[in-house]
Amino acid sequence: MIAVSPQVLDADSRIRFRCHKGISCFNACCEQADVTLAPYDVIRLKRRLGMTSTDFLAKYTVPFQMDMDGTPGIKLRTDDSGTCLQLNGDAGCGVYEDRPTVCRYYPLGLLSLREKGSPEATEQFSLVKEEHCRGHLEDRTLAIGEYRGEQEIAGYDAMNRDWYRLILKKKSAGPTVGRPPEQSLQLFFMASYDLDRFRRFVLSESFKTTYPLGPDYVAALERSDEDLLLFAYRFLRQVLFGEHSIREAADAWEKRVAGRKAVWDARREIEIARRAAAEDEKYRDEPDPGDTPCRER
Ligand code: SF4
Ligand code: SF4
Repeated sequence: MIAVSPQVLDADSRIRFRCHKGISCFNACCEQADVTLAPYDVIRLKRRLGMTSTDFLAKYTVPFQMDMDGTPGIKLRTDDSGTCLQLNGDAGCGVYEDRPTVCRYYPLGLLSLREKGSPEATEQFSLVKEEHCRGHLEDRTLAIGEYRGEQEIAGYDAMNRDWYRLILKKKSAGPTVGRPPEQSLQLFFMASYDLDRFRRFVLSESFKTTYPLGPDYVAALERSDEDLLLFAYRFLRQVLFGEHSIREAADAWEKRVAGRKAVWDARREIEIARRAAAEDEKYRDEPDPGDTPCRER
């Protein structure tokens, strides 16, 4: 049974908890894993496993819809019994140094995360108590802030923060924004999780023509997953909410239309040629009217 404390906690709230290898429930949580991944988790895990993001997503994640609008989310894949595929038997988590944000936060749930120092800024948490987890019975209390430090969460939150905001904005916009078109959802998936594919998109000639970013910035996007991820958030805000922070070339729209027209023209030419060839083929084996018996008469 899961009990979530009704109390909203902050970084100064104290919790009683300790998890360690010698505890009787060691690995019990990973054998019932329900781990939603954030974008930075994918970067850490794909690097750890020496894979591209595309291969990692296919092999180790399952998709789900985060809301009624079909916003795509991903979870870590488990085996049929619910055990996380990253669990390495009695040794514990096989990717421990790069374990996802949710695993680091456990048994805390992150309710909201905003910039420290902003007037309405608070970091709020809930405490989850599951029957199998004996960590709540350990003789240790500490502040949530200390626990986050211990779990080295800050770097993860820093890289995911703008993505959480993006999702909150989408949610709070509600029906005024409505269900985004399928193409936007696919773009959201690629920019959030499949960063290696997003990189190819950003480095394509058509993207560079539309968004002239400058050689140093492009080189950074080519080199660094982190820089690319932060750019992906800006790009998503621009596409989903019209927040223009990335300059578009003045004649980008005209060029795009012209480019598409060239493609359409080429396709039409190909179709005309294909039909002509099919017609030729149809009449090829029919006798020439000039060879009719009439002529022999
Ligand atoms: S990633 Fe590691 S810590 Fe997280 S559920 Fe899987 S095995 Fe457990
Ligand atoms: S104490 Fe809780 S978090 Fe730690 S291994 Fe046991 S079930 Fe998992």
